[in-house]
Amino acid sequence: MFLRELTTQTDHLRGAGPATVKALSRIGINSIAALLCHYPRDWEDRSHAVPLADYARYPAVCTVVRVIAHDWFGFGAMKTLKVHVEDESGRAVLVCFNRPFLEHQLTPGVRYRIWGKFYYKYGDIQSTAFEFDPLDNSSPAKGFGHILPVYPLSAGLTQGLLRKLVSNALTQYAKPLEDELPPAIIQRDGLLPKSEAIRAYHFPESMGQLDKARKTLIYEELFYLEVMVGRRAIERRNTAKISRDDQAPAPGSNSSSSSYSPLQQRLLERLPFALTPGQLSAVTEINRDMDGPYPMARLLQGDVGSGKTLVAFLAALRAVEQGGQVAIMAPTELLARQHAENAGRLLEPVGARPAFLTGNIKAAGRTPLLKALAAGDIDIVVGTHALFSRDVVYRNLALVVVDEQHRFGVTQRQAIMAKGDHPDLLMMSATPIPRTLALTVFGDMDVSVIPDLPPGRKPIKTHLAKESNEAKVYDFVRKELAAGHQAYFVYPLIEADINRDLKDAESMADRLGRQVFKGLPVALVHSKLDEEEKRQTMEAFRQGEIRVLVATSVVEVGVDVPNATCMIIEHAERFGLSALHQLRGRVGRGEAQSYCFLVYSDVPPDSPEYTPDGGVRDAGILTEDGKTRLKVMLENTDGFVIAEEDLKLRGPGQIAGIEQSGYLSLGVADPIRDAAELARARTDAFAILEEDPGLLLPENRRIAQVLERAAPFSQVIL
Ligand code: ADP
Ligand code: MG
Repeated sequence: MFLRELTTQTDHLRGAGPATVKALSRIGINSIAALLCHYPRDWEDRSHAVPLADYARYPAVCTVVRVIAHDWFGFGAMKTLKVHVEDESGRAVLVCFNRPFLEHQLTPGVRYRIWGKFYYKYGDIQSTAFEFDPLDNSSPAKGFGHILPVYPLSAGLTQGLLRKLVSNALTQYAKPLEDELPPAIIQRDGLLPKSEAIRAYHFPESMGQLDKARKTLIYEELFYLEVMVGRRAIERRNTAKISRDDQAPAPGSNSSSSSYSPLQQRLLERLPFALTPGQLSAVTEINRDMDGPYPMARLLQGDVGSGKTLVAFLAALRAVEQGGQVAIMAPTELLARQHAENAGRLLEPVGARPAFLTGNIKAAGRTPLLKALAAGDIDIVVGTHALFSRDVVYRNLALVVVDEQHRFGVTQRQAIMAKGDHPDLLMMSATPIPRTLALTVFGDMDVSVIPDLPPGRKPIKTHLAKESNEAKVYDFVRKELAAGHQAYFVYPLIEADINRDLKDAESMADRLGRQVFKGLPVALVHSKLDEEEKRQTMEAFRQGEIRVLVATSVVEVGVDVPNATCMIIEHAERFGLSALHQLRGRVGRGEAQSYCFLVYSDVPPDSPEYTPDGGVRDAGILTEDGKTRLKVMLENTDGFVIAEEDLKLRGPGQIAGIEQSGYLSLGVADPIRDAAELARARTDAFAILEEDPGLLLPENRRIAQVLERAAPFSQVIL
């Protein structure tokens, strides 16, 4: 029997009454399998005694002491017992708040085992939270001599109860569990058999055994994750591409893959610049994929400003030439519109038929557009989430481009893919996914990297500035504006909030326009404005009619205005690293030297401001994490390095693009911490899949088990 086949309900468990069964059910534990997979969050090592003097080396210790004396402090109902104890290494005081009856249980002269958290106070080593048992008459329930699990709890459950239930479940059911990993791997890595691993993870006999159990469970999880990834890869490779139009160049026909197609050629000829080497190799790889026998699944990573849009456009032209349609999806209307405008400017003249579709295009414009799309009269449609609305039908969707892919959840990416029959997929991101994560989440995708920026770009100069020095920053910007350049000012809030002493975009647009940059056109853009107003503002900024754009992080993704040379982020300590990196990437897109000012609040952390209603005002305090982020931004320009730092600060569950993915359905493993195991699991899983493709056919129990174990990851992996 496999662990997940222990579907026996918890009410069959010895010791589980109706109330307990209900409490378990509330946290999703209905079966024995689920109970055994309710892993401890920590362990208490009560297996051996620690000298009192060493208390500080552990969060809590097990010690053996002799009671020396009792004394009392306080009066009446507040009277509290103090029990003085000692061992060979020193003395301590057990403070028995609300437990006067311990007077009769902790007898002077007698030796006890104590489990407690000790600390130093008023000249004594003290404990107020402790458990005890007579040394010569220990009850097994206290777990002395053992390592006890500490479980995540919820209402109606206690540590004692859960320990008992799990222990019963282990003796009643866990003995005959079958191994889930191939025996060869268990042997090779010295892992534990499944039944032993599960038992030892709950009730280890030693810390060494716990370590082995943990290794086993981690490896199992990563192995199944990689089985899923590997299956996806093989599935994709086994999917023949739908035959596109007759005009499609015969696949593999002599070296067509490395040279440009006629439409691509025409676009390149019209550009005032040449492709960078990085763009060139990305296009070559994409062309090869698109001419290949199975659907492309490629992740294009390139730092902000590296020119990914153009690469996507070239891919689009190839798809169009092969008789297919292209959907280019962007996360914001602003960005989608910018792409649509560029498509109109660059792709229409070479003979492709682009269109723009967002949720804001209402019936009158929408109906004919959808008709044209269904009829195949539109080649390239650029838009937002609207591209996969239910009523949108494509005639022959052959290529899906997802820009800023980390902004989309897996289900959204799947929804757009479902609009075609195994279309090619190109995902683009300027928020580089660290290698370790890329291996898991995008494990079966091919990756192209554009490592270079277009020539002539000067590295952006980044400066930190205290809020109290903002006048100097404004002076600097004034000079840049006088030289004909443009600037962005970004704020964490759209409008003023009386509970938060932070600058907001609305008030600052007013102040910058009327005072600081008096006489220069200043405009405001944020997510609450209507689309038409946003569009006009962005257009005016692009044309240089607006010189200062005040914004929230809506300008974070994709916006491309090369004449803008200053990015001022106020309350920069409030923004996450990936947002800061994206925002900074809005400048440095032309030939002129660009600057980024990270303005941070210099209110010292120990002076909270109190609001009239007694609350503490959010006064833009610079936290340690905030400081670290600013430092990382000051010292790094490489998006990959910044992403790795981000990962260290926030952990994988938080990283952009992963948080929606249910990534944390991994129970014990952490792909960052366990990167080495991940790599091994990947090699193993891929090798097994390749040597024994039978594993893909769910025809016997073991294989069904493998697929079911891996199933949750299908939500994570595209
Ligand atoms: P990102 O990779 O951040 O999406 P974009 O595609 O928005 O970058 O390109 C940034 C800017 O660089 C655009 O103005 C684009 O026209 C320009 N650009 C792209 N490729 C080149 C190139 N090979 N040489 C010069 N400029 C380029
Ligand atoms: Mg872009």
